[in-house]
Amino acid sequence: MGDEASTSPAAAAALSAAAEAPAPATAEAATPQPPQPAATTPHETSSPAEGPWTREAAIARDREDLKDVIHAHHLKTFTEDFAKLVCHKTAYRRLMLHVQFSDNYPSDPLHVEVQSDTLPAKLVEKLQAMFREKLEKPADQDGLGVRGRPHVAAFYAYVDEMIHENKLLWATPEVRQTLALAKEIPDLTIAVNDEAGTLKLKATCGKYMMRAVVTVPDEYPASPLEVEMKKCSFPPTVHTVFLLQAREIARKCSIGVSVERAVQQSTTVVADRLIAPPQKPGTKRDVKMTSAHLKDIKHDVNFLKKANDLQEVNASYNKQLHMYLHSTQVRRAARRELRKLTKQEFEKERAREEAEAAVAEEEQLREWRRVTGQEDLGPQRCIRAVVEFLTRGFIFRLPKEKSLVSDKAVFPADPAKAQELINRRRKDRPTRVPSCGCWWIYSELKIFMETPPFPKPCPRPACNGAIVEHPEFENDPKKRELAYSKSQAVKREMQEVEDFLGM
Ligand SMILES: [Zn+2]
Repeated sequence: MGDEASTSPAAAAALSAAAEAPAPATAEAATPQPPQPAATTPHETSSPAEGPWTREAAIARDREDLKDVIHAHHLKTFTEDFAKLVCHKTAYRRLMLHVQFSDNYPSDPLHVEVQSDTLPAKLVEKLQAMFREKLEKPADQDGLGVRGRPHVAAFYAYVDEMIHENKLLWATPEVRQTLALAKEIPDLTIAVNDEAGTLKLKATCGKYMMRAVVTVPDEYPASPLEVEMKKCSFPPTVHTVFLLQAREIARKCSIGVSVERAVQQSTTVVADRLIAPPQKPGTKRDVKMTSAHLKDIKHDVNFLKKANDLQEVNASYNKQLHMYLHSTQVRRAARRELRKLTKQEFEKERAREEAEAAVAEEEQLREWRRVTGQEDLGPQRCIRAVVEFLTRGFIFRLPKEKSLVSDKAVFPADPAKAQELINRRRKDRPTRVPSCGCWWIYSELKIFMETPPFPKPCPRPACNGAIVEHPEFENDPKKRELAYSKSQAVKREMQEVEDFLGM
């Protein structure tokens, strides 16, 4: 048996090999690549005094080496014939390895079987084939180069590193589908980075361009994709709508809403968030008094009392004495305290509203599942949907968007001109109807909104008769009707006067 101290543990070799960073893949490399082993591993340079290994000695050594690279609870079984090991990063990024020692181990490599509850079967098969090849081949042929020595720990470390480092491995089929988009759309490039877990989008449509990044978080799909707009030539008020909508699709999918429904619902949700504060859910229902409610009320009363006291300190002017009852310093401190208190209260209130909205949304989702008979499939994967929304649904759609009532383009060909129209509130500026997400030319929308019948559905068939409502117009049909008949009466009177004067 070789000198223990001079021999590098197999695991360390694999770890250092696996740490070799793979180059970021581009659209051409359709599959995220696992880490590549280094050209040589310390095994080939280790002391010739080590080995040859007998099967028993090798397995005993494996048992020892494993302790350095695996958490005890991930080592499920270890016998003279086989071992069951778990590589775990998150509930989704998790792989089971079943390794068997053949009669000729370690001259013959481990026989490995891969299992996963979260990966598609096809990908599991591919990984298994790849692992077997890695174990079989020497390092100079892109293998692990571990045959002839105990290699369970090295192999485990290699796979575990891959599970931890390659953030897109779990999304491989989705990433491939998404990259297919870049082949379908000529002016779109998608650069994939496995280690960062990002997809960088670059798109141009006429004079308009967009650069956005979609990041796949560790806990995806239970955590939503992160979406960022790096650069966009559309005015900020325009691209922010689409950015928020993309984030909303990702968020909805992460809580189990189907992709199709998430895309559909994101239109109005974003509108609400942009234009009006979210409606407090449950306000119309009977409020049951619970101890939690009483606590809330007590808290509110306390807050008001404290705020009132501070206000009094600040405004304590005595008209007879012509002076404040408190020094400038004390009053300034009171004002500061009041500001702090109000800010804290505002943040608490917002957190409370958000928590209530989340509960209401979950209830709504459960109700929808009950009514439609859809089962709960858990968080939904949506990389392709989000990328498709940002590209086909935004950057490649908007520059070509035609008016729904005339045939004019809603956006001018030049982004600078679009910016000017919106900034200067010109009458031919593009504007979005929040109720269905359609884009209009403002002057055309004005005519549409101010002529009967009231109310009118959106002319676009895909909007399924959604009533057109816009924050800059009167949306109450009765009030609109009244305004219209008044304007007609004025017109008639003017006409009569003109007729009378013979003009
Ligand atoms: Zn519409």
